[in-house]
Amino acid sequence: MTITSVNPATSETLKTYKPLTKDQTIDAIAKADTAYRSWRETSFDHRKKVMLKFADHLRQHADEYSRLITLDMGKRISESQYEIEYCANIAEFYANGAESFLADQPMDVEGANAYLQYAPLGVLMGVMPWNFPFYQVVRFATPNIMAGNTVMVKHASNVPQCAEAIANAFADCGLPDGVYTNLFIPSEFVEVIVSDSRVQGISLTGSEKAGAAVAELAGKNLKRSVLELGGNDPFIVLEDPDLDQTVELAVQGRMVNAGQSCVASKRFIVVESVADEFLSAFKEKMGNMKLGDPMDEDTTLAPLSTEQAAVKLQEQVQASIDAGATVVLGGDRPDREGAFFNPTILTGITPEMPTFDQELFGPVASVYVVKDEEEAIELANRSSYGLGGSVYTKDINRARRVAERVETGMMFVNQPTKSQAELPFGGIKNSGYGRELSHLGILEFVNKKLIHLG
Ligand code: NDP
Repeated sequence: MTITSVNPATSETLKTYKPLTKDQTIDAIAKADTAYRSWRETSFDHRKKVMLKFADHLRQHADEYSRLITLDMGKRISESQYEIEYCANIAEFYANGAESFLADQPMDVEGANAYLQYAPLGVLMGVMPWNFPFYQVVRFATPNIMAGNTVMVKHASNVPQCAEAIANAFADCGLPDGVYTNLFIPSEFVEVIVSDSRVQGISLTGSEKAGAAVAELAGKNLKRSVLELGGNDPFIVLEDPDLDQTVELAVQGRMVNAGQSCVASKRFIVVESVADEFLSAFKEKMGNMKLGDPMDEDTTLAPLSTEQAAVKLQEQVQASIDAGATVVLGGDRPDREGAFFNPTILTGITPEMPTFDQELFGPVASVYVVKDEEEAIELANRSSYGLGGSVYTKDINRARRVAERVETGMMFVNQPTKSQAELPFGGIKNSGYGRELSHLGILEFVNKKLIHLG
């Protein structure tokens, strides 16, 4: 088995890596555990210096790293550049905030003196996806390193150049050996790691299938876990928003990262009084997207991450069409080299179709027409997922009411779901559990330890 970087825009093989053996993987755990014993003793001040250096390093190497992202998984180069800048922000957020997020908490207890200490746990494992190959790793690694844990990462096998670059970047910034470890391993080896007594927890971002497999391993080995899985975000349009702006946001929300985002808007639930107008403007804007080379700044729609991803999406769309969905736009792949998929809009979707309750990871929007607000909420909640969502109206009280009743981990008003260092990120139902980013993200893998002084 080899781990290979293939440019999805051209199908060219770029670089091949040899995976670690089982023995090498176990040696890496030992090294991460040894590193933990000294890293946990370092001061916040010391960690902060290293982390700020990392943020600075990312900015200085932004062009180089953006190129690697685009070569490994095909994202538009401007989105890759944005991703690197955002990673620098996250690193700074935890560098500057960790000490106060993890400060001792005095307990309000009558007649006694007690406090909570947030202590590191040890070696953690991260299993990460390819869709935001720097961001997903940085979101997991930076809070945990600042908390005094050490982290090992098994990155998705199609983004090895990014995986290697992240590890080198941490090392170049003075992070001691073993505090951050990149593991080129097949997913079968994750079990070796989770079952090792030196490893204290695992965080996975990816599909429900991979999440369930890892959660099972974590459960069997009594390890703490955080799962950030897929989503089928509702984008609820009520009667009165600024429709031009809402359509613009609908295109942005659906087409971010060529549609390959867990929090991309996927189900457009529109009340009937504005449905025709919305659909016709949405179709026009989606149809204007320009497929092309992701290195070209003029391209507005990049390829998907791999040929397999494009084939899977085509199967999901075709199965829905065969079951009676209406194709308003696209529905197929263009006749050109690379993992491209045409911008697509489907309507007439019924619960039996894959489009209804599967995550469609690409430029495919499902539009549903509903009678009113009540029906919109009911449909939004008819999903096995519960990650993000958004609602569009000029009436802020109504927006709040809807947002509070939709069953997801995050709701946004008049903007699609977004990720920001200061805001908690995560879902409910089959979208997983636990929270990343914000002050909550750094509290997932710490020992919330009671010290009772009598
Ligand atoms: P996967 O969930 O298969 O991959 C994500 C990560 O999990 C990769 O590192 C992968 O390794 C690893 N992995 C997969 N299976 C296991 C396992 N049994 N045990 C341990 N690790 C495992 O995603 P895919 O790339 O196959 O994408 C499939 C679908 O998942 C997408 O269409 C999308 O719906 C969803 N997805 C959601 C993401 C999100 O952001 N929430 C991100 C990516 C995908 P390897 O690459 O070696 O297989």
